[in-house]
Amino acid sequence: MSGQVWAHVGQPFGGSSSSPAHYDLLIVGAGRMGAALARFLREEAPHLSLLLAEEGGLPNEEGATLLAPGVWHARVPPEQGARAEETRTLLEGRLNACGLLELRPDSAGGFRPITDLWTPEVEGLIDPAELPFARLDRRAATYSAGSLALDCAQAASRAGADLMLNVRAELCGSGETGMAQVRLHRLSVTNLHEIVVAQTVQVTAGRLVVAAGALGPHLAEVGLGAVTKHNMAYRQTPRLEVPSTPTSPLLQSGGLLLRPRDGGYTVVPPIPHPDPWGYVPTGGRLVGVPTGLRRETLAALLEVMDGLPALATGALVLGRSLADIPGCWVALPQGGWPLYERLDERHWLLLGGEHADLTGLAVARELARELAE
Ligand code: ADP
Repeated sequence: MSGQVWAHVGQPFGGSSSSPAHYDLLIVGAGRMGAALARFLREEAPHLSLLLAEEGGLPNEEGATLLAPGVWHARVPPEQGARAEETRTLLEGRLNACGLLELRPDSAGGFRPITDLWTPEVEGLIDPAELPFARLDRRAATYSAGSLALDCAQAASRAGADLMLNVRAELCGSGETGMAQVRLHRLSVTNLHEIVVAQTVQVTAGRLVVAAGALGPHLAEVGLGAVTKHNMAYRQTPRLEVPSTPTSPLLQSGGLLLRPRDGGYTVVPPIPHPDPWGYVPTGGRLVGVPTGLRRETLAALLEVMDGLPALATGALVLGRSLADIPGCWVALPQGGWPLYERLDERHWLLLGGEHADLTGLAVARELARELAE
């Protein structure tokens, strides 16, 4: 039987301050990690009651999932290989095969002359004099991380999980009963477009998983006093208006990825460093002119511009201010790869981050199996 969905403040919810509602399992955040965990928990532990709580108005409406590159490839370190393969199997039917062309100035690591791998689609994008060597991963593919998260949340809901939208969770530790305690602030919008808390309900849970993306470690620290080593960064993904087709190869050079999307490319720059808590993203300047791209993003583009000359042309959307450039906060889990971590007897942290596309589903399923035991 389908679970219940609460999307509006007006829909009465079972909890009150005197008798909080109770679930066996509660997941905070319905990005791709939280939504995948919910789906797998309904498969692995259908007997346990489950609430998925999300601050946005739709699963993954807020957070990093919406702007995720949605790229799967086989170039992962050996210790991540099994998870990457499992994730690929779970992505079956969603993948759009396009291949990934990695480019280098030298032939180290078995790279071949790029002329062997040249296709008309890369004409004008790559300068073969600067990047004469390449390696092709034929299994690489793109997909939509946003629709994956939505489908997972819907599947979980159809399989009996309750889903609460427009709700900001505040962790309150473990109460006298020993259960995880959480306050759910139901959000509403005023006629002046301010987001306000319209109602707060108390919920207890046998076990609680924080899957709140980049904010997860902060939530755990504030609510539970659990200090972790994870970080976060604001990543921008500007648009490059060079024609692409859905089968144009992904291009990678020096940590920067060009991903074909909607007839052009999304530029996915490397993340240079964590941003401190409280950092407010701002645009930068290029030869004195304001841009929507922050300085670090511009610097990353300058690094690879010689080999990918289209980045030095007007085809790159620089914008005038931050709002012009798609960007979001991405979790930086310690070690760089999706993981989960037990914070205390009742609480877990689930983090995806920049490699969630590659191994996130397998990690969410591992946690579901552990919680089902
Ligand atoms: P991931 O890739 O790890 O799933 P996302 O950033 O895409 O990361 O997803 C995290 C989700 O958690 C977002 O949809 C965000 O709205 C939600 N979220 C963050 N903080 C809270 C909170 N306090 N309560 C409820 N949901 C939250």
